[in-house]
Amino acid sequence: MIVILKRNPDPSQLERFRGWLEERHVSIHPTIGMNQTIWGLVGDTSHLDINLIAALDVVDDVKRVQEPYKDANRKFHPEDTVLQIGGTQVGGGNLTLIAGPCSVESEEQICEIAKAVKKSGATMLRGGAFKPRTSPYSFQGLRSEGIRMLSAAKELTGLPIVTEIMDASHLEYFDSVDVIQVGARNMQNFELLKVLGETRKPILLKRGLSATYEELLMSAEYIMAGGNENVILCERGIRTFETFTRNTMDVSAVPVLKQLSHLPVLVDPSHAAGKYQLVTPLAKAALAAGADGLLIEVHNDPEHALSDGPQSLRPEAFDRLAGQLQRLHEAVRAQ
Ligand code: PEP
Ligand code: MN
Repeated sequence: MIVILKRNPDPSQLERFRGWLEERHVSIHPTIGMNQTIWGLVGDTSHLDINLIAALDVVDDVKRVQEPYKDANRKFHPEDTVLQIGGTQVGGGNLTLIAGPCSVESEEQICEIAKAVKKSGATMLRGGAFKPRTSPYSFQGLRSEGIRMLSAAKELTGLPIVTEIMDASHLEYFDSVDVIQVGARNMQNFELLKVLGETRKPILLKRGLSATYEELLMSAEYIMAGGNENVILCERGIRTFETFTRNTMDVSAVPVLKQLSHLPVLVDPSHAAGKYQLVTPLAKAALAAGADGLLIEVHNDPEHALSDGPQSLRPEAFDRLAGQLQRLHEAVRAQ
């Protein structure tokens, strides 16, 4: 339930209302806006008489909130969340470009790609170290050694680094990691989400292969309920009947998630498409739809990549795309 308070409410009446709610074990999460104050009521509000609350002098309006997520909900937090990560900001009109290989393969490889994508305007570097592969016989990633190499690339370029966690017991390796990615397959690994909620690291939460918007937001809620409000949502394509593309990029996810939540929304056209030829048009579509940025796989030798070569852009192609995206972003913002 949310209560919109009248402007300049009578302080003693407001205190009485607060006490009344507390007696009913309902806690108040206030959001103080420029014009109005909103109280998010958390707890079992089902027993509260909405008409009684609406009749109070200090109350302008009251609504039952249907959505089961509160911390991620834009209704309680009308302003966009903006995260400061190293020298870059995510959300709130900033263009985030996360680029890098699917997997970290060697220090030389990740450093070379890091230098190239930085020159092209990437704001963060990605690279998988713990890899969720469909087959146990596929390359599983360099694990903690991969994170060490990624950190070396960060030292070299200054780019903040993004890498995926698959198990809470690996958290000890993630000290130097700026953004912890939760992959599509782990979006509903609730125990992992709870552990990440206890950290204060930014979490890039990817949408599960068949997750609804509400399920994605409930997973964000798991992290935020633990006190970690630094969550970034990421649409990465969903399962549909279409097999031509690896997944189907759900462009609707961008405006819907931005409407429902204040969290930044990124799009990963690489895993959506599965084919490098489609990455450029899909990236542009995502940005035109209002995404806060993109996550794009870039490899210096896609033919020999240990994972996801077919969907990886070469650095030259990323360079062209990054320039186009920057111009497109300006145009979208000017609307
Ligand atoms: C990845 O980003 O490398 C990855 C495995 O993505 P997803 O979880 O979206 O499949
Ligand atoms: Mn990949």
